[in-house]
Amino acid sequence: MTKFEIRGVRADVLIGADEREEILKGVDLTINSGETHAIMGPNGSGKSTLAYAVAGHPKYEITAGEVLLDGENVLEMSVDERARAGLFLAMQYPVEVPGVSMSNFLRSSVTAVRGEAPKLRQFSKELQGTMKDLSIESSFAARGVNEGFSGGEKKRHEILQLELLKPKMAILDETDSGLDVDALKVVSEGINRAKANTDVGIMLITHYTRILNYVKPDFVHVFADGRIAESGGPELADQLENEGYERFVKAGA
Ligand code: ADP
Ligand code: MG
Ligand code: MG
Repeated sequence: MTKFEIRGVRADVLIGADEREEILKGVDLTINSGETHAIMGPNGSGKSTLAYAVAGHPKYEITAGEVLLDGENVLEMSVDERARAGLFLAMQYPVEVPGVSMSNFLRSSVTAVRGEAPKLRQFSKELQGTMKDLSIESSFAARGVNEGFSGGEKKRHEILQLELLKPKMAILDETDSGLDVDALKVVSEGINRAKANTDVGIMLITHYTRILNYVKPDFVHVFADGRIAESGGPELADQLENEGYERFVKAGA
């Protein structure tokens, strides 16, 4: 049983040498293993900032509060330590590493997280099988990391990592953005396999309710102006689908 806790987190985005702006204004959220929490909200409300701040992105500084994984202070861990502790943050992985093949990169990631190198043949089999499940063509394994990947390929790659690394907690930011319906189904099935095969807790950040037709959330939170404005069950997503975010957006904002 894993518990991921975000407590009273405030964070600034660092804009210039001495310019900063507070974006997160006190975020509280607890996710237990096996639970899927959808974080929904208007554009610019700070959803990605929450993901980046927890990931330790250098452009964001947490000024108050804490983030705990089974009681361990995530904010004191290096990016590698966060991964080894079982935290999956899609955006922590390199954007583009030409010259390093996907299969080598993924095997190194799996080795780092599991603490021992998987046998090459066994890993190749696992990789090819998972790629097939995600409708990723087999030549992908020989390509450079994220080299010339399309938007859809990046999203599939993200879920490929999720399935291979088997984290305790995963933060997925806009996994659905830019995907056509077929790709959305494939990616959603991957998330659902990870949920079925492991006890992963998921923070699913999304602007649109569309993905929630495929990945069923246990809880839905509305993010507005840097904090969680309302929490509920799946019915809250249906309500947002019908009413939009209007009542959560400040007049004049
Ligand atoms: P969301 O993901 O909900 O659309 P973001 O977290 O991306 O929202 O952005 C929240 C606010 O922080 C926005 O007003 C955005 O302009 C600002 N912001 C985020 N990142 C930066 C940045 N690197 N530089 C300047 N402003 C930023
Ligand atoms: Mg965003
Ligand atoms: Mg499960």
